[in-house]
Amino acid sequence: MNLGLRNKVVLVTAASSGIGKSTAELFLKEDAKVVICSRSKEKLLETFSELSQYGNNNLFWTICDINEISDINNTVNLVKEKFGDIDILVNNCGGPTAGFFEDLDEAEFEFAYKQVLMSVVRFTKLVIPKMKIKNWGRIINITSIAVHQPVENLILSNTFRTALLGLSKTLSTQLAKNNITVNSVAPGYTLTQRIYELALHKAKQTNESHETILANMTKEIPMQRMAMPEEIAAAIVFLASEQAAYITGNSIHVDGGRVKSLF
Ligand code: NAD
Repeated sequence: MNLGLRNKVVLVTAASSGIGKSTAELFLKEDAKVVICSRSKEKLLETFSELSQYGNNNLFWTICDINEISDINNTVNLVKEKFGDIDILVNNCGGPTAGFFEDLDEAEFEFAYKQVLMSVVRFTKLVIPKMKIKNWGRIINITSIAVHQPVENLILSNTFRTALLGLSKTLSTQLAKNNITVNSVAPGYTLTQRIYELALHKAKQTNESHETILANMTKEIPMQRMAMPEEIAAAIVFLASEQAAYITGNSIHVDGGRVKSLF
């Protein structure tokens, strides 16, 4: 299947590891022009060198803390200078701090609000005008199964990702006439740094080993295994493709059957 992504300009945020990195890799395999960003130069350089196997011409990196407005503005300007206006925006972020309501103070709620919701608002505001001019665009927000079935000790994720889902759905209806689709991908448990961090966090609270925690999490999944990051990336890249032109306002959980709800 030709996904029609050749030479499309893609920005993947928070992409020096995990799901973001795998997404960048899949776009490169489709001959898109890809910019990755995250906070750490060292990690970005490592990822850049790994992804350079697909050639350096279509790949660029820049440092961006997605919690900083100036970094967001600089990143979008840099993409334009390097490859042109963004066709496909993949809004990814680091995972919000784990914890129950009583564990988290107001500052942590405000930080997660900026990290999960406002970063998307800011990037999206910058890309929409050019997408409208081109009469084509794709915005894909990475969320979590928490939006379909809240995860007990992830109250920040449960709270702000559902807000992001509301934003996505509303935008999708407003931008559909401009051929701009807005969708979300909700990963289930995925083998990245994030899942180890969550397991270590829970291990401290329960006095179990993180291996036991991971094994118990795996038992909750009908497929009896966690996802590989490239399995999440595959859904993201499909939603960006020409073939997905009529899919908008959706949230797809890629979770091995973990979510128990019908929708
Ligand atoms: P990861 O830890 O492998 O990757 C997170 C990336 O975000 C890294 O590249 C990191 O450098 C970057 N990052 C963190 N803070 C940043 C900031 N302020 N500015 C710019 N970049 C920043 O984790 P992942 O599993 O790939 O997670 C990606 C997203 O998917 C997260 O929001 C996570 O919560 C969500 N998610 C993950 C899982 C899972 O099981 N792994 C499940 C559901 C949802």
